[in-house]
Amino acid sequence: MKNVKYAECIKCGCRYQVKADITLCECGGNLEIRYDYEKIKKEISKEKIEKSCEHSMWRYRDLLPIEEEMRMPNLIIGNTPLYRCKNLGEKIGLTDLYLKDEGRNPTASLKDRASAMAIVKANEVKKNVVCCASTGNAASSLAGNAAADQVRCVIFVPARIPRGKLAQLLIFGATVFKVDGRYEDAFRLSEWAIQKYGWYNRNAAINPFLMEGKKTAAYEICEQLGWESPDYVAVSVGDGCTISSVWKGFMDLYCLKFISKLPKLISVQVNGCCPIHQAVKKENVKKKDNLQEIQKGMIADSIAVETPRNYEKAIRAILQSQGIMTEVSDEEILDAMKMMGCYSGVFAEPAGAAALGGIRKLCQTDKIRKNAKVVLIVTGNGLKDYDSGIRAVECPIEVKPEIQCLEKMMKTLDLL
Ligand SMILES: *Cc1c(COP(=O)(O)O)cnc(C)c1O
Ligand SMILES: [Zn+2]
Repeated sequence: MKNVKYAECIKCGCRYQVKADITLCECGGNLEIRYDYEKIKKEISKEKIEKSCEHSMWRYRDLLPIEEEMRMPNLIIGNTPLYRCKNLGEKIGLTDLYLKDEGRNPTASLKDRASAMAIVKANEVKKNVVCCASTGNAASSLAGNAAADQVRCVIFVPARIPRGKLAQLLIFGATVFKVDGRYEDAFRLSEWAIQKYGWYNRNAAINPFLMEGKKTAAYEICEQLGWESPDYVAVSVGDGCTISSVWKGFMDLYCLKFISKLPKLISVQVNGCCPIHQAVKKENVKKKDNLQEIQKGMIADSIAVETPRNYEKAIRAILQSQGIMTEVSDEEILDAMKMMGCYSGVFAEPAGAAALGGIRKLCQTDKIRKNAKVVLIVTGNGLKDYDSGIRAVECPIEVKPEIQCLEKMMKTLDLL
């Protein structure tokens, strides 16, 4: 890891030598990987990156904590499109809106960037079983990346997991424990098993390398915008790893002077479950004990996290960026799914569309300038949870198999 200086605890500032299996600080704080920017500046440049023939997240290898001799995993991750969405923008009142379609990754979510990193690290320490607890995407991406590299994969999922994500896990051949309980229960069991059997831990927040994988989404956004940072980046937030990773990506490029300003983050959580926003606002984080109540506002399973594992980094990212926070309801998420699909051709899972719901709300209250450059990260693909997609739309038009009937129907539509 030639460009890495050390791992630093974000709580107590304690520093550690970077080894592939480091997890939390002794004080319980999360670790963050620190780089030698002066050295990196001498070795790479924007031009050098642009000339790279590597069209995946490993394009930014010099800015990642990997050993030089390590072979990269088999699936091709990253290099997802950044679409300029004129029509969708117009619809919500923005003239310069972009979608970063992370659903285009091999297992159809941004989590692939972290899971690929986990597989590289597991290989470095020669562990042949990887494990995580997840509400879905961390698990399906780990299972897919593990399958491609023939690493064994053990997954703990909560009872409520969309069927598409469950299908992915099983198709990729993971050993799946469906825990009769919530995400917190699945997490607890996974931590016990990882400890007991010595598996590689891909639980986000505990593993500092995962952020390093995910931050490449921010690098891509900047490169795709011609090494410019947008004014705002909207991300949906559960554990808080994604938003802090994206922030780290922008910070890296800023420290390297590859970009001259930083974006403001727009953090989007759901009404029924927004502990990170409550913490920023210093509200008391009330623990909800009623399972019924929690599951109600939970169409966005990927961000329905009651006890976020990375809240400190997420809070810091939101505050440092002078970000904006907003919460959305299930109905607003469903509306956003349909709107995104109709006006941009991108099908997002609920957590992916939540960010659009959030931006839309901010536009309605004039919290964002009309001509601001806004990038919305679509964190996962809608086919993973098509039941929610179906809830967002009307029924198809039923017609008898006769031309007269069809013609009569046509007259009622405004297609002609
Ligand atoms: C994991 C995930 C998120 C949120 O990421 P956190 O690190 O938990 O905040 C958002 N959307 C999708 C689709 C995800 O899979
Ligand atoms: Zn510490």
